[in-house]
Amino acid sequence: MPRLAGADSVREALLPNRRAGFRIDDGWLRHVRRVVSPNCNERPSGCSIDLLVIHNISLPPGEFGGDHVERLFCNSLDCSAHPWFERLRGLEVSAHLLIDRNGAVTQFVPFQSRAGHAGASTFGTRSNCNDFSIGIELEGTDDVPYTDAQYRSLSAVSRCLMREFRGISIGRIVGHADIAPGRKTDPGPSFDWTRYRKALR
Ligand SMILES: [Zn+2]
Repeated sequence: MPRLAGADSVREALLPNRRAGFRIDDGWLRHVRRVVSPNCNERPSGCSIDLLVIHNISLPPGEFGGDHVERLFCNSLDCSAHPWFERLRGLEVSAHLLIDRNGAVTQFVPFQSRAGHAGASTFGTRSNCNDFSIGIELEGTDDVPYTDAQYRSLSAVSRCLMREFRGISIGRIVGHADIAPGRKTDPGPSFDWTRYRKALR
């Protein structure tokens, strides 16, 4: 039975493909907004994709909304627009996906390509995690709780990626802090790993 449409369900219905689940065509999520980043290249030949890395980002930190993050990923951020942005000058970074506070997903890099999200990093005995991982940025900070909409989108997109890339299991989904300890802290204590992992089963 369809539920009566309240404000929440109307808002949820506007989120792309959440109820139907996500699908991938040629490395891109179907029906998801694309903003193509130049900050990507080929993965090493024969490298399988078997790690998912969860991050957070907001620019400036703690300010949500706006287009600063997508501009950063497309090398079009005006670094003189905010004192904090100066440290980003010249950086060429990207992630495959960004999930904003409303749960809306944007894709910047096709999954078969290598994005620049992990930096110096190690998973087990393997370094350079960008080579074999997919990176998802949550709009947020280490200490502000993520939104319900973000957990819903992240879980749905993660399930899709686990179907598509069989090497990505629950045990091979990590935070940036796990693969770059001491250097990175995201997604931070504000990320509820228990809630997220439960939603993947
Ligand atoms: Zn990160």
